[in-house]
Order: sequence, then structure tokens, then C-alpha cells
Amino acid sequence: MLTNDQLAEWDRQTFFHPSTHLAQHARGETPTRVITTGKGCHIEDRDGRRLLDAFAGLYCVNVGYGRQEIAEAIAAQARELAYYHAYVGHGTEASITLAKMILDRAPKGMSKVYFGLSGSDANETNVKLVWYYNNILGRPEKKKIISRWLGYHGSGLVTGSLTGLELFHKKFDLPLSQVVHTKAPYYYRRADLAQTPEQFTAHCAAELEALIAREGADTIAAFIGEPVLGTGGIVPPPPGYWDAIQQVLRKHDILLIADEVVTGFGRLGSMFGSDHYGMTPDLITIAKGLTSAYAPLSGSIVGDRMWKVLEQGTDENGPIGHGWTYSAHPIGAAAGVANLRLLDELNLIGNAAEVGAYLQQALKAALGDHPKVGEIRGEGMLAAVEFVADRGGRRFFDASEKVGPRVSAALLSRGVIARAMPQGDILGFAPPFCLTKPEAEEIAAMTAEAVTEVLGA
Ligand code: PMP
Repeated sequence: MLTNDQLAEWDRQTFFHPSTHLAQHARGETPTRVITTGKGCHIEDRDGRRLLDAFAGLYCVNVGYGRQEIAEAIAAQARELAYYHAYVGHGTEASITLAKMILDRAPKGMSKVYFGLSGSDANETNVKLVWYYNNILGRPEKKKIISRWLGYHGSGLVTGSLTGLELFHKKFDLPLSQVVHTKAPYYYRRADLAQTPEQFTAHCAAELEALIAREGADTIAAFIGEPVLGTGGIVPPPPGYWDAIQQVLRKHDILLIADEVVTGFGRLGSMFGSDHYGMTPDLITIAKGLTSAYAPLSGSIVGDRMWKVLEQGTDENGPIGHGWTYSAHPIGAAAGVANLRLLDELNLIGNAAEVGAYLQQALKAALGDHPKVGEIRGEGMLAAVEFVADRGGRRFFDASEKVGPRVSAALLSRGVIARAMPQGDILGFAPPFCLTKPEAEEIAAMTAEAVTEVLGA
């Protein structure tokens, strides 16, 4: 058997890791972590350490690790038919069943589902569909997409442009000119101290109006947003936000893309974030929770009004010029079917709502009075703790102090994984939906210890 040292050496020599400080890793300044197995909310590494994964991988292993039902479904599909394509009307029982199951669960007004492999490629599909739509409608100038600062929509060329984080733009010549950004609905960080949440909502809507006026409504095709900002800080919207935004979009005939890569299939304690916040999107992006990451699969759910135009477009121009080899891959589809069944059978979305609320309460009880904890927030099985240098004045730490990463490391040394979000000093929690109340209590207790270690009592 290979030793850990041998693996670490090969890793440094050969493996280009995503989202990693390449030079530090190659120099051996950051460890190679080899994960071997998982069960429920826990994973184990090659040193035999057992960790409570309070971020479900990258908020994706929603049903928890080690689900044999999904493993069996994948194995059965692979034995029977590992692959066939989905072009010109081909499919498998798994892919057709999964499309039907998704539409049965989707918000009202959705018509079809296109399958991809990652959240990024699904958003790429969405942008292409939006452009196609406006070309078919004879409005070739109406092409720009509005996204929010701090939004996360992928890291391709157009999707990395949609992502409103500087690290994803800098040195990559992004964002592309067809993407423009508006204010993040992040009350705690972006509102004036004197503004109420309701006033901040009105302010966000006014900022959007002003952007549309500057750019010209006839140049704006769509608005994309996550129901709850995810990677940008796990920030639920202020009250009335989506109503106010949708009013502006309707007025200017701008499509809405709900990026539900994180929120889709139960993360907020309801099936879709769109239903949770009364959004009526034209396109919904799904990925992670569709298969709980047991196999790579994503999708774009297309709403009725877009679908009609897409059909018209193919009548006029021939088959849609968009397809991946692995669209609707049978193994991903089999994983998706088994995963959605498990969500229902075990009432995991109900558990996400109940234990998610319990986790937030436990975090508030353990940390709510800490002078360096500015806000504890969340929705369903998503929570965040934001650290501040000065609570009353809402003064933030300098990024160079790396408060978020230090707390996350102190927590890891206590056997709990939470994510230091890439922007700001925020510890993010997104456990599997099967989290138990004792596990939620453990997360809160260990987080309090880690915070005390780094920031004092
Ligand atoms: N959209 C959202 C909201 C996401 O959180 C992510 C990934 N974290 C993506 C899109 C991109 O998905 P992927 O990494 O699978 O390309």
C-alpha cells in the first residue's frame, strides 16, 4: 500500500488542485489531505481521523455520505448501460424518469429540463438560451446579463464573469462586457447603519433601476441570482427583496434566472428557494443537491415562456446547436433518481428545516454574546457566523488578519469542518440534511471553543 508521504509527494508533483494557492501547495506549505470514506455526516481521512463535515463537501452531499441505495443504483446502471447519448430524442429510463421527477417538484410554470454536468455548465447553457431567445424574438441588442456582486455562478468564462468575486476576475480578463453587476443584498455589510432592512431592500431595487437606466433596458436580457447568497457569505435576502427585484424586472421585460445550485432540492428546508421566496423564474439552475454529488449532474429547468420561443427557434433554424456528450449521463441520472427518492422516503427536507433551525439556535446560544461575533444568520440547513473587530460600529477585521481561516482551522483541529467563506471573516455551515440535534450541539460547542481560542472569550 502507498504511504501517505508517497501520495503527498505525487500530489505536489502532479496534481493541479482547483481553488488552491498553487505555489504554496507545490512547496509543501499546505497539507495534502486524503479522504478515504464517509458515513452520514462524517468523513475519515487516511490518518484515520474522523471529522464531522458541517459543510457537506461543498454544500452538496445533502443526503449524507455512504448511502448504499444510491451506490447500488449507480452500479446497476453501470452494469446494464454505462453510457448512451441523449441527442435527437435518445434517452434512458433513468434520464426520462429523472426529468419527470424534477418537473413534478419544480415551481409552477416550468416546462422542460436540460441536463449538464456542473453548475457552471448549466449557467453557461442558461446564458446561451437567453441569447438565443432574444435573437429569435428579433431583439439582438437585448443581451446583457445582470448579476450581483458577491454572487457565485461558476468559474468558466461567462459564468466566472457572472460570479461577483474579484478573485475570479483578476488576471483572467473578466468579466466579459456582456455582464454587469449590481448591489449585493447583504444587509449586515452593505447597508448604512441607519437603514432598516426594508429601506435596504428598497435601496437595492433602486440601484437595480438605476443600473438598467444607465445601460438601457433594451440591452438587458436577464438577471441572475441565488435565492440566498451562498459563496459570497451565506446571506438570506432582506425582507421583500425578491418581490421588489421582480417588479423591476417585469417592468423592463428582463428574464429571471434563479441559480438554485445550492438551494435546490431542500437546502432551505423547502424543495426550491424560488418557492421559499415567491420567485417566478424563467430558468432555474440545479446541480449539487440533484444527485447529492454521488455523480456529477446538473440541469437547467426552462420555463414555459422561454420554451415556446425555443421551439419556434428550431422550427425556423433547425435543431438547437447546443449539446454535451455527457448530457443526461445515465449514471448521473440513476444517481439523481435514487437521491430524490431518498429525500422523500426519509423526509430529509423536513429534517433540514427542523435541525437547521436548531443549529442556528445552538450557534446563537453558544456565540450570540461574543463581542467579536457580529451576526449569526441562516435559512434551513445553511448558517453563517460573521466576525467583527467592533460590534457596535460594525467595523470589520482587516483581511490580512485571516480571522475566518484561523477560526476554521481551530475548528478543524477539534474535528469539525466548517468553511471559511472566501470573502470576509465568515464561517459557513451547510451540513448534510441528516444532521441530528446532538451533532448540531457538537458543532455549536466546538465552534465556541474555536472562537475563544482565536479571538478570546
Ligand atoms: N452556482 C452556485 C450558486 C454555486 O454555489 C456553484 C458552486 N459552488 C456553481 C453555480 C457552480 O457549480 P460547479 O462548481 O458545479 O460548476
